[in-house]
Amino acid sequence: MPTQTQIGLMSHEELRSEHERQAAKYAQLKAEKLALDLTRGKPAPEQLDLSLALLSLPGDGDYRDGSGTDCRNYGGLTGLPELRAIFGELLNIPVANLIAGNNASLEIMHDAIVFSLLHGNPDSPRPWSQEPVVKFLCPAPGYDRHFAITESFGIEMIAIPMRDDGPDMAKVAELVAADPAIKGMWVVPTYSNPTGAVYSEDVARELASMPAAAPDFRVFWDNAYAVHPLVTECAPALDILGLAAAAGNPNRPLVFASTSKITFAGAGVSFFGGSDANLAWYQQHLGKKSIGPDKINQLRHLRFFKDADGVRAHMDKHREILAPKFALVLQILEDRLGASKIASWTEPKGGYFISLDVVDGTAKRVIALAKDAGIALTAAGSAFPYKQDPEDRNIRLAPSFPSIDELATAMDGVATCVLLAAAEQALT
Ligand code: PLP
Repeated sequence: MPTQTQIGLMSHEELRSEHERQAAKYAQLKAEKLALDLTRGKPAPEQLDLSLALLSLPGDGDYRDGSGTDCRNYGGLTGLPELRAIFGELLNIPVANLIAGNNASLEIMHDAIVFSLLHGNPDSPRPWSQEPVVKFLCPAPGYDRHFAITESFGIEMIAIPMRDDGPDMAKVAELVAADPAIKGMWVVPTYSNPTGAVYSEDVARELASMPAAAPDFRVFWDNAYAVHPLVTECAPALDILGLAAAAGNPNRPLVFASTSKITFAGAGVSFFGGSDANLAWYQQHLGKKSIGPDKINQLRHLRFFKDADGVRAHMDKHREILAPKFALVLQILEDRLGASKIASWTEPKGGYFISLDVVDGTAKRVIALAKDAGIALTAAGSAFPYKQDPEDRNIRLAPSFPSIDELATAMDGVATCVLLAAAEQALT
C-alpha cells in the first residue's frame, strides 16, 4: 500500500497504476449495489429493545409518583422529583437545579435561544433580538443540529478549533472577553459529537470563570453523552454549575441532557439544569407554552431505572452492543488506511461518533463516491458552522445503527473511496 509520502514521491506512472487499482476496487464496490447508511447517530434496534419493558410501564392503575402526584393529570412543570434526583446524581447537578421535560433536549435548547431572543435572559440589558448582532462560539467539528438552530435565527457563528480536551481556550477566552456581541457558546462536554473529546476540568473551570464582555453570556452545556462510555470507566460529569457559582458567574451555564440514547430516541425524557434564576426564567416562559410535561413517560422511566445504578447497569448493556461496532470501524480504518497515513481519525472512549479526516480537499469527493456506491455518509461540512469545512477534510462516521456485517461492508467501501479520492487528487 503506498503511503502519502510515497504518493507524493510517486512517478506519474506509479500514480496512474495506484489510481487504477483503487478504481477497480471501486467498480467492484459499485457492482455490489449496496444500500447502507452511516449518517445519523441513531441507536440500533437491539439497543431500543433493551428498553422494551418501558412499553408496559407504569402499568394499569399505577399512575402516582412517590409524592402521590397523579401523573395522568396536568401540572408539575418541573417534572417528577424522583426522576430528577436520579439524573441529578448522574449529571452532577443538585435536584433542585434540574428539571425533567418531554422527549427532546434539542427542543429546550431551541426554547432557551428563542426566549433569549424575545425576552433576554436574567442578565440581559435587552432581548438579544434588539442587539445589532448576536454571535455564538461553535467548537468545530461539532453537532450539526446545534449549528442549525443558531443559523436559523441569523446568529453569527464563529468556529473554534476542537482539541482532545475541549476547544482552543486561548481563542475562546480572548474572543469572549473582547466582544459583547458573543452571547453564547455550544459545548458538548462529554464524548463530544463528533470527535469524542472529553472536556477537562481545567477547560470547564476556565469556561465558568473567564471574563465575558456580555453580562448575559451563556454556555450551552449539552451533556447528551454523559453516561455513554464505550469503556468500563465513564468520564465523570463535571460540576459546571458549582464551578460557575464559585467563579461568581452562577447564571452562565445552561445544562441539557436526555435519555434519547439511553431508552427510546424518540420517546425519552429530557433534562434542563441551571441556577435558580435561570430555572425561574425558563419556567416563566415555558409555563406559557405548556401546563406540564408527559409525566406518565417520566414515571415509566422512574419505574424502569429505579435509581442511578439502574441507569449505569442499563448503559453497560448499550456498551456491549456499541463497543464492538466502534472497534470494528477502528480496525478497518487501521487495516486499510493506517499505513498510508492519508487519513486520521479519533478513537473515542464514548459517545456515538468517530471523526475521520481525509486528505485535504477530498471529503466532498469521498462522500460523493460513497453515495454513488450506495453508502450514505453525513453531508460534507456538516460538523462545521454554515456547513463549511474550511479544509474539506472532515467526515463524521456514525457506527451505531448498522449491523456488524453491514458496518464492515460499509467501512471497507468508505476506505476504498478515501484511497481513490486521494489518488485522483495526487494525479491532478
Ligand atoms: N445533543 C447532541 C450533542 C446530540 O448528538 C444529539 C443527538 O444526536 C442531541 C443533543 C439530541 O438530543 P435529544 O434527542 O434530546 O433532542
